Amino acid sequence: MNNNIETEKYDLAIIGAGPAGMMAALRASECGARVLLLEKNHMPGIKLLMTGKERCNLTNAEADARYFADKFGKKGKFLLSALYNFGVNETTDFFNKNGLKTKIERGGRVFPQSDRSRDVQELFLRLLERNHVTVLTNCKIEKISRTQNRIESIILDNTEEIRAKNYLISTGGCSYPQTGSTGDGYTWAKQMGHTIVKPGPALTPVLVKEYWVKELEGLSLKNVRISIYQNNKKMDDRFGEAIFTGNGLSGPIILDMSKSIGEIITNGKTDLMIDFKPALETHILDKRILRDLENGKNKSIRNILADLLPKTLIPVILKSAGILPDKKGHSITKEERKKLLSLLKNFPFTIKSLLGFKKAIITAGGINLKEINPKNMQSKKIDNLYFAGEIIDLDGPTGGYNLQVCWSTGYLAGENAARMK
Ligand SMILES: Cc1cc2nc3c(=O)[nH]c(=O)nc-3n(C[C@H](O)[C@H](O)[C@H](O)COP(=O)(O)OP(=O)(O)OC[C@H]3O[C@@H](n4cnc5c(N)ncnc54)[C@H](O)[C@@H]3O)c2cc1C
Repeated sequence: MNNNIETEKYDLAIIGAGPAGMMAALRASECGARVLLLEKNHMPGIKLLMTGKERCNLTNAEADARYFADKFGKKGKFLLSALYNFGVNETTDFFNKNGLKTKIERGGRVFPQSDRSRDVQELFLRLLERNHVTVLTNCKIEKISRTQNRIESIILDNTEEIRAKNYLISTGGCSYPQTGSTGDGYTWAKQMGHTIVKPGPALTPVLVKEYWVKELEGLSLKNVRISIYQNNKKMDDRFGEAIFTGNGLSGPIILDMSKSIGEIITNGKTDLMIDFKPALETHILDKRILRDLENGKNKSIRNILADLLPKTLIPVILKSAGILPDKKGHSITKEERKKLLSLLKNFPFTIKSLLGFKKAIITAGGINLKEINPKNMQSKKIDNLYFAGEIIDLDGPTGGYNLQVCWSTGYLAGENAARMK
């Protein structure tokens, strides 16, 4: 990586070397532009390394452009041009063609076959070098200098000035600020006349009041149903995977419900109920427990439940049901069995709060969609400015949707910024 600022004028200066900025830089250089990519971290793509539990869920193969856009609610329409130009198929082709083989997992989630996000980062670094993109790291942009409707130059924190014909801001949102995403782009965009839809943490884990949840830390639940209740009314529910953290819950279904949880908790006490056995109706599960108790009448209840539940969950459930773990199958009373059954189908937690930006997977809010041309990602306020990635007011669910926004908007912005003379 080159850390000497060159005085020549670039066709395109890109601020922020995350997935969106790197894709934009590659596409612009392919289109013949001289590209400068600026990054304040010591290397590009630090957040990318953390994605998909370091396996990087690249995109989602179940989604055609319209279905994909629907995942972003009303705002999804904005994405259609970008998706038709460079969508899910083009993205997987891009990775496969460049030597990063991909695989599809449950729910259409696409991952590198190697299960290594580092391979994705390294692929981009290789391609940027091959395409002669100048990458400047450890370089923090302090200020953007402009006339009425054009950027003139960008000024670094060491006061050096960089000039280019066009500029692209891809500084991401505010989530996981330790990765470099500290919302800098919002400030500049606001100074240049853009409106910013208030940024807020999205796809966040929940904290629960029950301190003993710590005993379940790391326990991953597959195929559970989690429902959200307020005043005994079910407000939302999802089926899928979740994981216990040291102080609450996370995992795909919790993250995807976090937006609605955020709205619900503003109205008062909110509970979360876990159905550990959603595939079994209550009376069927009851029969199964009765049979297990009968078959294991001389065994301890702790051992009897071993076929039904993960090991770490058993003492917690038994404690909540008020049953001693060593009690034998034959001496479990009807009331104890019913209590156990009720907890297996409806295990309650009280939500304390959502975690904030520090642990949010993405940021909701950002540059107002009305002020960006969806056909080329150009700012409607500043002629030689483009946006790409999470900085734009779009937030999707888990499953590879958010990275696809980066690939699609980065690609579109890069090729249009390169062509704009
Ligand atoms: C733990 C975690 C796991 C995730 N997993 C997935 C997943 O598997 N699949 C998925 O689709 N999405 C996932 N996401 C979301 C995804 O990572 C983001 O949507 C994506 O990284 C946004 O890319 P971006 O390029 O827009 O911004 P970022 O990745 O945030 O990159 C912005 C870059 O700009 C730089 N920058 C900021 N300010 C300045 C400045 N002043 N000067 C210079 N440089 C600056 C930053 O240092 C950073 O490198 C995950 C997010 C997290 C936090």
